[in-house]
Amino acid sequence: MSISSSLLESLSQCVGRANVLVDAHDVAPFVQDWRGAFRGSAQAVVLPASTEEVATVVRACRSAGVPIVPQGGNTGMCGGAIPDASGSAIVVSLRRMNRVLDVDPVNDTMTVEAGCILQRLQDAAASAGRLFPLSLAAEGSCQIGGNLSTNAGGVNVLRYGNARNLVLGLEVVLPDGSIWNGLRALRKDNRGYDLKHLFIGAEGTLGIITKAVLALFPRPEARVCAWLGLPRPDASLAILERLRTTCADALVAYELIGRSCIDLVLDHVSDARDPMPQRHPWYALLDLAASDEQALRAVLESVLVDASERERLDDAVIAQSVAQAQQLWRLREGIPEATRAEGPALRSDISVAVSDVARFIDRASAGVQSAMPGARIVCFGHVGDGNLHFNVLPPAAPQPAADWAKPLYRILYDVVDALHGSFSAEHGIGQAKRSELRCYKSGVEIAMMEALKRAFDPMSLMNPGKIL
Ligand SMILES: Cc1cc2nc3c(=O)[nH]c(=O)nc-3n(C[C@H](O)[C@H](O)[C@H](O)COP(=O)(O)OP(=O)(O)OC[C@H]3O[C@@H](n4cnc5c(N)ncnc54)[C@H](O)[C@@H]3O)c2cc1C
Repeated sequence: MSISSSLLESLSQCVGRANVLVDAHDVAPFVQDWRGAFRGSAQAVVLPASTEEVATVVRACRSAGVPIVPQGGNTGMCGGAIPDASGSAIVVSLRRMNRVLDVDPVNDTMTVEAGCILQRLQDAAASAGRLFPLSLAAEGSCQIGGNLSTNAGGVNVLRYGNARNLVLGLEVVLPDGSIWNGLRALRKDNRGYDLKHLFIGAEGTLGIITKAVLALFPRPEARVCAWLGLPRPDASLAILERLRTTCADALVAYELIGRSCIDLVLDHVSDARDPMPQRHPWYALLDLAASDEQALRAVLESVLVDASERERLDDAVIAQSVAQAQQLWRLREGIPEATRAEGPALRSDISVAVSDVARFIDRASAGVQSAMPGARIVCFGHVGDGNLHFNVLPPAAPQPAADWAKPLYRILYDVVDALHGSFSAEHGIGQAKRSELRCYKSGVEIAMMEALKRAFDPMSLMNPGKIL
């Protein structure tokens, strides 16, 4: 569908003709995701440079009855930032709204535009001697507006929480084109409903986030990283519990990694090497951060000795340098890339209570193996948050995941549901998991979500076909 001359004229007047992309070649990168899993079509891509421009674009689209798809760094996993195939939508990319507006070290806050790349915000905080702790492997490309709209997690949730926990205020352009200025830098404010939380994790269906006030933290001076070889998943939970008791909030990250993940990484990631001489069925990778490195190491060593005596720990490596810690993290971060190299896979992003993690792994593994004998289970994730990527590779030669994965997803998600967990811990719903949402959320929850959507966006023009 090509854009009408009147809409092209209004959008061009607002953002400048050079910032309205209509040529198929220019539009192409905005209508497919980075994995090539979702492809759509759009009348145009618009690149506003200010909140007022976003509001004018939204009003122009609303007058023309044209749907809008907000887009950040386009690193999402569920196709939330990709328009449908009809070609009726306009993609609004926030990439030109990329200024850090203010860093306030006394209030420990930073006010930023939504199109700032996450890594740039980490750097801006570091320049002021502070920490912005949101951290994920896509941080060089994803934008803070996308992070907030997906309520991103990442590796530091254990200590600092999800993206939601790092926001004090928001500015949002609503579906009718009005601007909500909720850019407050307050840690206490109980004047009625806390509206910012409606937009966090809403995947652009209730409005376009244009600015945010983010919380900053002291920068820990010392970091200690360790790689543990474990006999069973429940051993990782016992060590986690002990670490939390003895180290309090010095424990920043705690990841569980199955041996099959390491085999894949060693096969497919060129600079990877096994940190231990012997194979172990499971591993944990952990980061501790505080001001006193010697004290951290001493506490960690005492926990590990105790775990070893209780037969919960087979082996441990404590990184002796930053480079060695990076090598250990490279093993963890290489798992998605190594899994992709093996061909089509079932990929999941589930969460259960931390105390149910081992139970989930047992039940899900048994269910998958009985439905598909010989399937390779590639299980890893942020176990400290109860969040696992329980992925499956078929035993036979690669064939499209759609052909064999659907019944396995059902088995997996039924196990999650029976444990009162979530089939989407971090990545959201987008266009990929709408049927699961209807299947596993209660009718009451769906009705409340639909009522909210209708109240904010009665014409259903703001990222239609996503979530609901
Ligand atoms: C290698 C890799 C590792 C990853 N690791 C993690 C991880 O550990 N944890 C995790 O949570 N995610 C992870 N992700 C997923 C992804 O990076 C996050 O979902 C990220 O928060 C998306 O940000 P984005 O800017 O790319 O958003 P996009 O993909 O552009 O958009 C995501 C959703 O947000 C909406 N949106 C974007 N910007 C705005 C805005 N300004 N206002 C309103 N709506 C908006 C879009 O419409 C879409 O629905 C990973 C992705 C990759 C590629």
